[in-house]
Amino acid sequence: MIRTLSARLLLTSIFTLSLSTPSFAYHATQGITLAQVTADVSYLASDELQGRGNFSAELGQAADYIAKRFEESGLTNATGISASNFLQHYEITKITPMQLSLTLNGKDVAADKLAIASTAEMLSWHVDSKANIAKANFTLHTVSKGDDMRVTLGKLNQQGGQHLVLLNSAHADLFKRYQSYFGRGLTKLANTDNGKGGAIVMVLTDLTTVQVNNLTLTAVNIKSSHELNNVVAVLPGKSKPEEIVLYSAHYDHLGVKNSQDGSDNIYNGADDDASGTAAIINLAQHFAKQGKNERTLMFAAFSAEEIGGFGSKYFSKQLDPNKITAMINIEMIGKPSKFGAGSIWMTGMERSSLGEQLNNALAKTGEQIHQDPYPEQGLFYRSDNATLARLGVPAHSFSSTQLDKDQHYHKASDDVASLDLKSLHKVIEALATATQPLVDGTITPSRIDVNKVKGKGLIY
Ligand SMILES: [Zn+2]
Repeated sequence: MIRTLSARLLLTSIFTLSLSTPSFAYHATQGITLAQVTADVSYLASDELQGRGNFSAELGQAADYIAKRFEESGLTNATGISASNFLQHYEITKITPMQLSLTLNGKDVAADKLAIASTAEMLSWHVDSKANIAKANFTLHTVSKGDDMRVTLGKLNQQGGQHLVLLNSAHADLFKRYQSYFGRGLTKLANTDNGKGGAIVMVLTDLTTVQVNNLTLTAVNIKSSHELNNVVAVLPGKSKPEEIVLYSAHYDHLGVKNSQDGSDNIYNGADDDASGTAAIINLAQHFAKQGKNERTLMFAAFSAEEIGGFGSKYFSKQLDPNKITAMINIEMIGKPSKFGAGSIWMTGMERSSLGEQLNNALAKTGEQIHQDPYPEQGLFYRSDNATLARLGVPAHSFSSTQLDKDQHYHKASDDVASLDLKSLHKVIEALATATQPLVDGTITPSRIDVNKVKGKGLIY
């Protein structure tokens, strides 16, 4: 929020009294040191951790490091939420298509005209007459030449259930892209499907729904289980222990990818999101030293953000979201924003009063948190805050990335050398100052209206 003119004038007169004092003096955060921030981000983004890919041993090494830092700072595990080693264990299910066959009006459909996204292991659909189509355990849809295929699929994905989509051959190009995307299989948080199973099967055909007389479909998908951990620690609140201020960042990244020409293939993810992880580690240390948090402070390093946000999804089911006063999710703060070094912006600022309240706390520093300058990028939905926002938590991501021109985003070159460590340090200090009243329990942001937050797809 932009400060009003009268507040600006008032602040100017206060500043005049102390112009000779450097601006960092306004942050009572001397405990957050550039040296420690540098050490944390450098280790997390080091080649040793191999890009912190999900399911890799090195991600476990990163988790151990974060846990060790929390422990050194005197934090405790979150009872009932994380284990004594600070780890919050969960399972991911991968569902990979193995077999798919369809006979339509008595004719076998070629495999290259079929695609499937299914959370069910087996599908067996059979309809022997037009009259029985309405009674089938799936619904039949047509995407005609002039229809928007993405919109139809998006709706079915939001709706869940089982669907057969007859896709006009005019959509062949886009179909190929979905086919290869779906062919890689789906990743889901384990046990979130209610056992029902959703499915979308697409068939490239010029037939439309009314022309279907009979069909038989069989599909087999293989499920496999994979283990991951979040790292969660707390500083119990002195007078309002039931009210939680959540600081979060994701510590996973893209791991290692094969490069054709032998060049660097480790995706270090220094900005994305070793920078945010270093921030929560240092904020935890800072508030622990301060030792006067009235609310409970919870620090969560999530895994599986890069593959669909499953770490935060699991986390959100382990506690009552109504107890979370605010979620400060920190994403990609390692480089100066378009507003300058040390300046940040937040996603979804208009959705709660949090931004305005944080900016009141920052006013004395002359800094402010800006609105997301890239609304067209849909960043509110592109990090772990969205999961908690869907539950009504004032949950926002705080960032400084210049996403419109960053050459290193999701590249192997996102390494520590590309960061501006002083700017990173300054951002962490600003976040400490901005969120102090949340910690003190003197501000309570408005909740996010869940009816205005888009849901996540149920199938893919
Ligand atoms: Zn990323």
